[in-house]
Amino acid sequence: MSQSYLESNPDENGYFGKYGGAFIPPVLEKPFAEIAEAYNKLKDSPEFIKELKYVRKHYQGRPTPISFAKNLTEFCGGAKIYLKREDLNHTGAHKLNHCMAEVMLAKYLGKTKVIAETGAGQHGVALATAAAYFKLECEIHMGEVDIEKEHPNVVRMKILGANVIPATHGLKTLKEAVDSAFEKYVEESDTSLYCIGSVVGPHPFPVMIRNFQSIVGFEAREQFDELAGGIPNTIIACIGGGSNAMGIFSGFIEDKEVELYGVEPLGIGTKLGQHAASLTYGEEGIMHGFNSIMLKDENGEPAPVYSIGSGIDYPSVGPEHAFLKDKGRTKIGLCDDEEAVDAFYKLSQLEGIIPALESAHAVAFAMKLAKTMSKDETILVNLSGRGDKDLDFVVEHFPIPHAKF
Ligand SMILES: *Cc1c(COP(=O)(O)O)cnc(C)c1O
Repeated sequence: MSQSYLESNPDENGYFGKYGGAFIPPVLEKPFAEIAEAYNKLKDSPEFIKELKYVRKHYQGRPTPISFAKNLTEFCGGAKIYLKREDLNHTGAHKLNHCMAEVMLAKYLGKTKVIAETGAGQHGVALATAAAYFKLECEIHMGEVDIEKEHPNVVRMKILGANVIPATHGLKTLKEAVDSAFEKYVEESDTSLYCIGSVVGPHPFPVMIRNFQSIVGFEAREQFDELAGGIPNTIIACIGGGSNAMGIFSGFIEDKEVELYGVEPLGIGTKLGQHAASLTYGEEGIMHGFNSIMLKDENGEPAPVYSIGSGIDYPSVGPEHAFLKDKGRTKIGLCDDEEAVDAFYKLSQLEGIIPALESAHAVAFAMKLAKTMSKDETILVNLSGRGDKDLDFVVEHFPIPHAKF
């Protein structure tokens, strides 16, 4: 019998075709090999699987439901739109799916602490939550500029017991936070685990995070069959690093007839610096320890990127997304800031669901695509998170429309 796609990708060195790998300093080779070995054992361990199932059901609130977006479907006048409700996860997004499992891995390795960087603070909050649950120390590195900008998430992390370390060099944002967290991890890899927040970074993180997120797709496959019958024609998810997208794609990757769309943020324009559409406008390159498609500046360094969705403004993308796009298995959609805000309000006023701005990119693209499809066809959107974190920003910059659709 031929192995399934998920079993045979990546290869044992963490390559999806030519993308992926582990480009790390020699001092980190041993700790990363140790992580890969531990993960390989744990993923088939009945105790690990049992504990993860317990945590997901009794703490996180899984399974999250699928909802039929009846009014949005009517409004668009085409394909039926369904939503996988990752916004209903504890802490409000899909990120806890991998953070809980990463902290379990840290515990298994005998570590006493988890370290990570965070940009907007979403990964930091999810990791701090998981660390509190499993009684591990949590250290989050964050650029000084981001600390100022994302004040509520900084407070959340502190309330949850995390130690927030400001990165004070350079531009004082995400890139500097990565440097600072990595530096600390090099010093403390004996006692801590570095927890990456998406399907990015050196092997084994892209495969590990994908598999931890695959629960989204496996649940969705069963639930969709129960609710609508069969499998959807099209699946849509937003892509930053690409973890929520790989999560839902995992359940349908073998079904060649299901179209898989990753939606990238077009921000405020197509010029470098105005968007974060790495797969659309990027080229092959290595950053943050892996080979993928990235946006480079004139010196070949990671380019500045922008999106209204602060969780999807990343200058590269998970290596598996680069691979699947090259193979023609996935397609890339685009959505700019304005369309995302419009979808944010439409979903709120038509369905009573306030989406995260990141997830609103997927909703906006679904609205465009639905209009081109027939009423018998179906779209399943991964609603990666809820919009509580975005409320103040959105109403300050974009007036609330009158609900008269
Ligand atoms: C972090 C985040 C994303 C982007 O991360 P991926 O790894 O691309 O899924 C998307 N949606 C929400 C709500 C997030 O918090």
